[in-house]
Amino acid sequence: MSEPGPLELLTSLCKRRGFVFPSSEIYGGINAVYDFGPLGVRLRRRIRELWWRDMVDLRDDVEGVEAAILMNPRVWEASGHLANFSDPLVDCLGECHQRWRADHVEGDRCPNCGGPLSAPRQFNLMFKTFIGPVEDETAVAYLRPETAQGIFVNFKNVLVSSRQRVPFGIAQIGRSFRNEISTGNFIFRLRELEMMELEWFCAPGDDVRWFEYWTERRLAWHHSIGLAPEHLRLRPHGEDEKAHYALASTDVEYLFPWGWGELEGIARRGDYDLRRHQEVSGKDLQYTDPVSGERYIPYVVEPSLGIDRTFLALLLDAYREEEVRGEKRVVLGLDPKVAPFEVAVLPLSKKAELIEVAHRVEADLRHHFATEYDETQAIGRRYRRQDEIGTPLAVTVDFDSLEDHAATVRERDSMEQVRVSLDQLAAVCRDKLGRPA
Ligand code: ATP
Repeated sequence: MSEPGPLELLTSLCKRRGFVFPSSEIYGGINAVYDFGPLGVRLRRRIRELWWRDMVDLRDDVEGVEAAILMNPRVWEASGHLANFSDPLVDCLGECHQRWRADHVEGDRCPNCGGPLSAPRQFNLMFKTFIGPVEDETAVAYLRPETAQGIFVNFKNVLVSSRQRVPFGIAQIGRSFRNEISTGNFIFRLRELEMMELEWFCAPGDDVRWFEYWTERRLAWHHSIGLAPEHLRLRPHGEDEKAHYALASTDVEYLFPWGWGELEGIARRGDYDLRRHQEVSGKDLQYTDPVSGERYIPYVVEPSLGIDRTFLALLLDAYREEEVRGEKRVVLGLDPKVAPFEVAVLPLSKKAELIEVAHRVEADLRHHFATEYDETQAIGRRYRRQDEIGTPLAVTVDFDSLEDHAATVRERDSMEQVRVSLDQLAAVCRDKLGRPA
């Protein structure tokens, strides 16, 4: 048997430690859909919070919305998704009858059985459903394949109700659905995914400079959450691969174990979406410049990032195996900003006096940090668990603590231990986590 690769090792860790589970696993799962366990939920929340903080909270020119997943189907007619949101599909005409995305197949034979392939046909990626009890064409609705349209149809609502003036942005985080043809690579290509999108509205002609601004800023954000700069690159799209709405696009790519892959897409959407919604809805979606009085449909720059791919890139980037005193140690070297827990509190043994102090220490630290209390198993195994889930600091309460009112703080990466007085613990942890005072 061949050695497991980085993706298999990570998939197994994610299951074992409670980051990611196959959806409805007791029934054999469902393809390209996953559930997130206790640690996965923590990591995802931190990703969302870091994005929202950078894109919305720390700025005065971006507002948030949460639009519904179900929308009037005319939205998808206007946006071009009904006609254009499709991938070319080829069928194996040989033994296995598998289906492939034509642009993922090299040559003209089935990658599985070597059989001949059909001519490509376009397959729409939107999930279709029905609203109400009657399943006929008038009741058809779609699960949104992107959150962006929920922003465009609310452009006027946000403009009127907020005090924003162009240029400004509207941000949204939410679930999207894509009936992908070829899946695989764990959570890289899902059928149910979560996106974080910003639509930035600016004057026509200003979009080129804003596109540069957002490209630079988004790349810097990926660095700031701890992804290694050498595993990230920008790749402008060629003429033939641009989406139907895009004037230009650049992907932020990450070096996944199977090669470079899209992490985030940044696009100049021009006035495509608002213009189409104005045409199809008949509503005026123009903006009036308060100074010049000029009326125009704003141009849009869109950075669009998947939480799931960010999650995967962070874990792959953080995963390492080392040898410590003849034993293998698995470490998730996550940046403290994204680690599911920042501080673990561990009593050395289950003696009642130690447990009491440890509980008190944790109850205090909980107000400052994401903490976990753990009294199970031998201390070595508990350190191993914390290393494997990426907890940067572990505080151990031992018998000396009862006398010296201090505890040992162990760092995940260096494994260095220092003795810290209990009343200094929060300050020392804050410092070691690199948090501002
Ligand atoms: P691809 O070329 O990989 O199919 P795309 O160009 O269709 O992706 P976009 O429409 O630009 O992707 O989507 C924006 C972001 O949403 C992507 O950069 C990615 O992070 C995320 N994303 C898109 N599709 C999926 C998916 N099926 N599973 C997980 N994340 C996805």
